[in-house]
Amino acid sequence: MPERGRFTLLTIRGIPVGVDWSWFLVLFLIIWLLSGFYRDVLGAGQDSIEPYLLAVVSAFAFFGSILLHELGHAVIALRNRIGISQITLWMFGGVAALDREPDSAGAEFRIAAAGPAVTLLITAACLGAGALIDGGSFWDGASFDETATISTGVAVIAWLANINAVILVFNLLPAFPLDGGRIARAIAWRVSGNRDRATIFAARLGQGFAYAFIAIGILLALTGSLFSGVWLALIGWMLAGSARESANRSRVNTRLGGLRVADVMDAEPVAIPAAATVARALDEYFLRYRFPWFPVVDAGGRFLGLVNRGAADAVPELDRASHTVGEIVAADGSPGQTVSSEEPLGELLANVELRRLGGLPALDADGRLAGIVTVEQVGRALRDAAA
Ligand SMILES: [Zn+2]
Repeated sequence: MPERGRFTLLTIRGIPVGVDWSWFLVLFLIIWLLSGFYRDVLGAGQDSIEPYLLAVVSAFAFFGSILLHELGHAVIALRNRIGISQITLWMFGGVAALDREPDSAGAEFRIAAAGPAVTLLITAACLGAGALIDGGSFWDGASFDETATISTGVAVIAWLANINAVILVFNLLPAFPLDGGRIARAIAWRVSGNRDRATIFAARLGQGFAYAFIAIGILLALTGSLFSGVWLALIGWMLAGSARESANRSRVNTRLGGLRVADVMDAEPVAIPAAATVARALDEYFLRYRFPWFPVVDAGGRFLGLVNRGAADAVPELDRASHTVGEIVAADGSPGQTVSSEEPLGELLANVELRRLGGLPALDADGRLAGIVTVEQVGRALRDAAA
């Protein structure tokens, strides 16, 4: 999932929903292809604007369906106390970025199944609404009978029902990291009791599917369906890459012998109480320890966020005795900048925030600061495991 070229469209319950530039390409393509489709289905003339308007409505309803699918994953993840740093729509659909991997096979299963469950509901709702509005012609529309004459509303609902059914079936293929592959991993995890072995199994299965997608895609492209063929091959190529990456991480975890963040972290980290004044934070923490940032905790030890030297320096000198650290930490929320102390160490290898900050606060299951894990500690553990 590319990070460049992404920008936020809206925020839903604190989760930024963004689009990648490639989303616009797809939006344009869908509108273009669908205008032709609706022109045929409705038997409209070349100068009619109606097919074009229907295509625009359908394209946005399509992205709405994908967003709802991702929100399904997000809601269940949040219920399992896993934060969502962002939802992004791009050319291959949507991605809900979980702050960390689920701790149990059950949580993994529920989060993975939530998206397809939402898509199933949307498909059922479209089928129900279409049948209610206009039973006979709806089924003609839903089965793409080109000779059928159907009303405009029914045509859009029929297309939506179809596209959601396709999304449902495709996502349920056990091709890790697609939803179906995550479900397969959850089942293998439950059966074997070992997450890393389950991941390696699911990733292998995923790579198999990915190579099949590439082969079928090339075949389609060579036999006339250039567009869908290239599309499928690209999806396969992308899935193969992320399956390989997940498998590699799990192999490292296996080599690390089940080491968790809690096993290597500094379990007595220096944290600034939220009630401390900015003046005290500068004197007793930043000037004394010379760390670029500190975790901030409330009176109960709960982690509130990070405060960096720049934020403290930015408070005018005269105000430093009357403002607390709690006020400046609230100003910049920091999604994705924490890990669970129970997280397998290998999962940190791909963590960009760890590399950027040099360390990350590790939280226990109740959100309390349990320690700080640094890049050096992770590196040392890896070297020890290799030796
Ligand atoms: Zn999904």
